[in-house]
Amino acid sequence: METKDVILELRTKNKLSQDELAEKIHVTRQAVSRWETGGTIPNTETLKLLSKLFGVSINTLLGSPRKLICQCCGMPLDDTTMSKETDGTFNEEYCKWCYAEGKFTYTNIEKLIDFCAEHMANENWPVEQARAYFEEMLPKLHYWQQPK
Ligand SMILES: [Zn+2]
Repeated sequence: METKDVILELRTKNKLSQDELAEKIHVTRQAVSRWETGGTIPNTETLKLLSKLFGVSINTLLGSPRKLICQCCGMPLDDTTMSKETDGTFNEEYCKWCYAEGKFTYTNIEKLIDFCAEHMANENWPVEQARAYFEEMLPKLHYWQQPK
């Protein structure tokens, strides 16, 4: 779905007219109309306001061009698993389990590997194989590459 369709769908789902949406995010009705016909896309500041107003991530507003994964544990992210900042805005880098209330849950990669291996292992994926997978994958994610 393209941005224009996403905005149109969110606006109508929330029962807002173009005028009402424009007023809420401090733009003109013409601007809203241009987004919905695909003439322009909202700028970064406006995307943030739309994200907050509709409770969807900026990635969703842009038509989900990026496949997001948590940069701490590697799980795929959507608007229901994505973390939020304490002001309610989405943090599109992390899942809500790794980053909650403005704080990171894991500071020790060994602990996270233990946790993931135990929870993700199943009858088709023995725990040693799961562990090997997470030991390989997790250190490549941004969070674990930053100096602590
Ligand atoms: Zn995570």
